[in-house]
Amino acid sequence: MAAVSPSSHLSKAVRQQYMSLPQGETCQVTYVWIDGTGEGLRSKTRTLYSEPKSIEDIPEWNFDGSSTYQAEGSNSDMYLIPVCMFKDPFTLDPNKLVFCEVLKYNRLPAETNHRLSCSKVMEAVKEHCIWFGMEQEYTLLGVDGHPFGWPTNGYPAPQGPYYCGVGANNAYGRDIVECHYKACLYAGVKIYGTNAEVMPSQWEFQVGPCEGIEMGDHLWVARYLLHRVCEDFGVVATLDPKPMVGNWCGAGCHTNVSTKEMREKGGLQYIEQAIEKLSKKHAEHIRVYDPHGGKDNIRRLTGLHETSSIEDFSAGVANRGASIRIPRQVGQEKRGYFEDRRPAANCDPYTVTRSIAATCLLDTDEGENSK
Ligand code: ADP
Ligand code: MN
Ligand code: MN
Ligand code: MN
Repeated sequence: MAAVSPSSHLSKAVRQQYMSLPQGETCQVTYVWIDGTGEGLRSKTRTLYSEPKSIEDIPEWNFDGSSTYQAEGSNSDMYLIPVCMFKDPFTLDPNKLVFCEVLKYNRLPAETNHRLSCSKVMEAVKEHCIWFGMEQEYTLLGVDGHPFGWPTNGYPAPQGPYYCGVGANNAYGRDIVECHYKACLYAGVKIYGTNAEVMPSQWEFQVGPCEGIEMGDHLWVARYLLHRVCEDFGVVATLDPKPMVGNWCGAGCHTNVSTKEMREKGGLQYIEQAIEKLSKKHAEHIRVYDPHGGKDNIRRLTGLHETSSIEDFSAGVANRGASIRIPRQVGQEKRGYFEDRRPAANCDPYTVTRSIAATCLLDTDEGENSK
């Protein structure tokens, strides 16, 4: 049996009695932010005495950065700056989830806050109406760190039946996927779809198309919802790009990209131009496609298991072994979007979208230089 958390065994009937109590005019607002790992999410909740109608109605707040790997020295108070608001699918209307930027004591962005540098680049390329769609792959684990549903000793049957698989022998943990999908829709996250992945207990959801800075905002909130849904079921979702060594697929965060020019008739030439620019900055992109300068992605981008080698840049129509893939339909219609297959599952969507926008549409990535 998979190891699920003790909390998930607490009585849901008792919980329901309290959760259905009326709350009058009050509103619970849960502030969500990225911690000092650049990967972990944290949240805390406060009461407002009227329902906020827009992000401007949410006050700034603070937290103890010495407990989130974020504080500098003895100045441990960090600022939480609300940036976007969603409905809370756990405590329901009128309660809110608010995604926040983190600022240090001097009101400069915390080390793992890349939203500001991303939004500067998005502002600079605004005229191109750049759209992104990101494919978030993840793996379900028991609280003991063993893949969810895998035999305690040994392995499941080799890969083959699991991708988009159905049936109890192929799909491990679909409850989580379905509940997460509903939670995203309720919250207002632009979830695009979902599918089972090649490795058993590995899944994917996509977010998009989102314009500019919205991509990072929505993907981070979708990740928060995933971790919270998993918590309710007593299991863990890891974004490790290669959770199992051996003949098992890793987890990426393919990033689909288009500009207004690429989406219009004859747009393929703009896609080709963008790919040409990306080919000259392969190493720079690999450095920002996981939170550890490429070290996490080395384990995944081997050239096997539908990945390209981390060393080389390549591109091709319908080629899932290339760094950049032009979807077959886009090749046929000669317009649309391209897919950067290199970002790791644990990438920061702000740095990924910032560097793609900067390389393809500006001559420098100022965000990268300032960090
Ligand atoms: P794949 O075939 O690579 O598995 P998916 O169906 O999983 O592709 O994901 C496709 C992604 O492409 C979605 O996130 C979607 O939002 C995004 N997308 C679709 N059209 C565009 C577009 N014109 N520009 C950018 N992203 C797009
Ligand atoms: Mn996909
Ligand atoms: Mn996939
Ligand atoms: Mn893909």
